[in-house]
Amino acid sequence: MRLFSARNILTIAGLLGILLLSGIANAALSITATRVWPAADYTRITLEATQPIVHSMIMLKDPERLVIDLQQADISPELKSLSEKIQPDDPYIRQVRVGNFKPGVVRVVVDLKSEIRPEIFQLPPAGEYQHRLVLDIYPLVDPLMALLQQRDGLQTAPSLEMTPEIASTSPPATANAEQAIAANIPQALPQAPAITDKLADKATDKVIDKPYDGRMVTIAIDPGHGGEDPGAIGARGSREKDITLSIAQKLKAQIDKEPNMRAILTRDGDYFLPLNSRVQKARKVQADLFISIHADAFTRREANGSSVFALSERGATSAFARYLAQKENESDLIGGVSINVKDPHLARTLLDLSQTATINDSLKLGQAVLGHLGEINRLHKPRVEQAGFAVLKAPDIPSILVETAFISNPEEEKRLNDPVYQYKMAASILSGIKKYFSSNPPLSKSRMAESRFAD
Ligand SMILES: [Zn+2]
Repeated sequence: MRLFSARNILTIAGLLGILLLSGIANAALSITATRVWPAADYTRITLEATQPIVHSMIMLKDPERLVIDLQQADISPELKSLSEKIQPDDPYIRQVRVGNFKPGVVRVVVDLKSEIRPEIFQLPPAGEYQHRLVLDIYPLVDPLMALLQQRDGLQTAPSLEMTPEIASTSPPATANAEQAIAANIPQALPQAPAITDKLADKATDKVIDKPYDGRMVTIAIDPGHGGEDPGAIGARGSREKDITLSIAQKLKAQIDKEPNMRAILTRDGDYFLPLNSRVQKARKVQADLFISIHADAFTRREANGSSVFALSERGATSAFARYLAQKENESDLIGGVSINVKDPHLARTLLDLSQTATINDSLKLGQAVLGHLGEINRLHKPRVEQAGFAVLKAPDIPSILVETAFISNPEEEKRLNDPVYQYKMAASILSGIKKYFSSNPPLSKSRMAESRFAD
């Protein structure tokens, strides 16, 4: 009896200790990491902690600012360092101030450059990350639409999806458009002109496909991953998101030199873009093709070669295709998507429309690209594979996902980092696009609209 009661007392003491400890842990929420991802699309601030971050946010005017209170938090060195991470050329944020507001409440004040639309949300642990509190700062006007209007004039800008908000031109919109244009002009690409010219000469020797001479076509190029989502990491530490952006920028520069072809990038910087936003951007500019660029990774280091994927309405064509689609679709979990951003219109379209016709065109495009990739790299699979990739779900745009090579293979990782190889990779994709158009000339825009309504 005595022993028992002594044990009971110990147990109770232990329980109390645990309660006390967890109480202390709750009282001292500590921010373990902060990150800032500035971009014309939106600027993101991420706070990371070992537990959910209890918070509240208010918006204040004159001057424009956001005030975020973190409950039961202390000012860690990581949180303090947030102020230094704001770049002077951030499109939206002037500065961030961090201070103790009252006992147990830390206040973060974000001073803004203009009126904005904020989104704040929490993310559960995913990938390498613990609990995250994410603040996304959006412009009031879509920078992509502002860019198109400035470039092409209002006549040629897609009118179907224009909203009164997009059509207005307030001063901050103009500033954003200028930044977007500056980021998109070919001269701004980080490429040595001498190398470019030399490579361009070589590439013209090789390209045997006739130049495309139909109406102006728009190619949406989608550099996979970005920002919070690094994608696959190579053995030498290179990140998929950086390689995909370099190749995509080179492909855009090459396409823009072609007569009657122009390219837009779904992202032109190091920031995260949700999968459905990538599709939406392509649809907004009425893209004729959508090409998502990635670099593969697999647990076996020996795995190598290029592959091309299209959407499957049914099952995946192989276990590997299914594995890869699952991995690529995890991007939204790791990158972090606010539920509010999900587009109900797109979701409905995906349910309503049969994608069979588009998938057939996607397979033709994929096979043409795969054929040319085979000239510069071993092919992982000889034909286009299919699986449920979320990023390929535009119901009306032939879409492919190119896994350029395996970043997890040390030899291929080395080549993927080589600008000359990146240029060749882009040139092969362009050759594939031209080959596709030579046997599948695009419909005129009015016929496309008719066939859309007829479906
Ligand atoms: Zn990827």
